[in-house]
Amino acid sequence: MTNNPSTPAIRFNKVSRHFGDVKAVDEVDLEIINGEFFSMLGPSGSGKTTCLRMIAGFDRPTSGSIYLYGQDVSNLPPYERDVNTVFQDYALFPHMNVGDNVAYGLMIKKVSKAERTKRVDEMLELVQLKGFAGRKPSQLSGGQRQRVALARALINHPKVLLLDEPLGALDLKLRQQMQIELKNIQKQVGITFIFVTHDQEEAITMSDRIAVFNQGKIEQIGSPSQIYERPASTFVAGFVGTSNLIQGEAAKRINGSDQTFSIRPEKIHLGSLGEKNGSDMISLDGVVRDVVYLGLYTRYLVDIDGGGDLIVIQQNLKTTSMDVLSIKGQKVRLSWHKEHMVSIGV
Ligand code: ATP
Repeated sequence: MTNNPSTPAIRFNKVSRHFGDVKAVDEVDLEIINGEFFSMLGPSGSGKTTCLRMIAGFDRPTSGSIYLYGQDVSNLPPYERDVNTVFQDYALFPHMNVGDNVAYGLMIKKVSKAERTKRVDEMLELVQLKGFAGRKPSQLSGGQRQRVALARALINHPKVLLLDEPLGALDLKLRQQMQIELKNIQKQVGITFIFVTHDQEEAITMSDRIAVFNQGKIEQIGSPSQIYERPASTFVAGFVGTSNLIQGEAAKRINGSDQTFSIRPEKIHLGSLGEKNGSDMISLDGVVRDVVYLGLYTRYLVDIDGGGDLIVIQQNLKTTSMDVLSIKGQKVRLSWHKEHMVSIGV
């Protein structure tokens, strides 16, 4: 394997995995850069896990090739690939203590006891579990077990670490905390992380780049801000965050062309009727059909004059719940900067 940093950590060349008629992965081309935190994001059944399993070697492509640092690994068994996996269910050995769980990969490689102890200590420090080596997995919380699984997967310094929805079993607060920690750990160790999730917020929080999967294909690859601000398709605009998609007649009326465009709800300003706006703005009037107060912000559904509706999100900077709820049924003027509209092809 080459260590040239410009060689992609992973490259897919027209990779397909079909199960009978089901095209789980369909002619996917992909390059993952050495040292990046890369997420595979998509709804259930879109092919993310199948891609991960093929990188790990648990599954093989029906056609196409997979390269790990330039080497074709498509037909290599898992143990001949310098790759490790962290699973959602941790897969720790229940009868072994934390230290032995973490040391497992080193024991298999017959590394000396002194070296093992040293490296286990380093790993436990990295995942903030110093002093936990003697505990059994059953004496740990879910978040702590996930850290042990991470330490165990990293101890052999694999070239690539695969993470299959590793935070899926944790509650929201812990999940958010672990997202930040995981990203920090990745930066410290400098290993390429490939992270599978169906949670768009999670992918946006942690990733250098994201691939958005839909029905076995990748719809878009880009940085979190590219994916969010410049969605390449209606699917991406709808799946990543909330978006207003304006098509056909309504698009023509608002923008002078029937080309579909999207506008994010938080980019729309909700103002009073008659409010004047500059020529770089789109303005239209409507009636507030629904108001949902959500604490930090409020979500409005506005029926636009002439047909169609838009979701608008406004932060509750100065408004109280009473203020925002009283807007229901009122006529309003919506406006947004033209530069925030994104033309969408399909
Ligand atoms: P999830 O988020 O639910 O894990 P996913 O995006 O990871 O979904 P995959 O598990 O890759 O999706 O599955 C993609 C498609 O391939 C699905 O339609 C699934 O039913 C099908 N599939 C996966 N594994 C097999 C298999 N062993 N046999 C038959 N069909 C399979």
